[in-house]
Amino acid sequence: MCAEPLSGEHRHLVDTRNRSLMCACTGCYLLFTRPGAGAGHFRAVPDRYLTDPDFTLDEESWNRLQIPVGLAFFFRNSELDRLAAFYPSPAGATESELDPETWREVLGHSRLAALLRPDTEALLIRREREAEGLGTGECYLVPVDACYELVGRMRLHWQGFDGGAEARADLTEFFARVRAKARPPAEEEDGP
Ligand SMILES: [Zn+2]
Ligand SMILES: [Zn+2]
Repeated sequence: MCAEPLSGEHRHLVDTRNRSLMCACTGCYLLFTRPGAGAGHFRAVPDRYLTDPDFTLDEESWNRLQIPVGLAFFFRNSELDRLAAFYPSPAGATESELDPETWREVLGHSRLAALLRPDTEALLIRREREAEGLGTGECYLVPVDACYELVGRMRLHWQGFDGGAEARADLTEFFARVRAKARPPAEEEDGP
């Protein structure tokens, strides 16, 4: 945003028009934390990680989302006014159509879906039988930049249909970090 040199740990803004992420210094970041700042073109990516310990997703519901692998993230694109679903592939991430009806029926009841902020936060869902005994899946609300990081990792390691051993080890490590950062939503957690 400005010429301020950035440290390794810094914040991000989403450019909602170009669907891209911009690195920002603390000063620039804070300018965009107010609602309506930048006329909605740039939005500050929040830093909360939330978990829903009660989350379950049965196989039938998961299949309705038409995600061919056991992992996906979802976010609301305010510019196009629709929900986007992405899942890992050798290209990094593949976008899948998600109609609002399916979203409402499959994920609409979840606590985290109700808290999801457009453009800047994503619902990250992992549903794999072998995923550390979490047969019914795990769901997190994460800053969207975490998903960009995930996509970058997938582009490096994902092979074929199931990703291969290296991608899986990388995913396990990624989810361990997400799990460590995530907390259940507070009673009065801010919504969208
Ligand atoms: Zn700056
Ligand atoms: Zn950055």
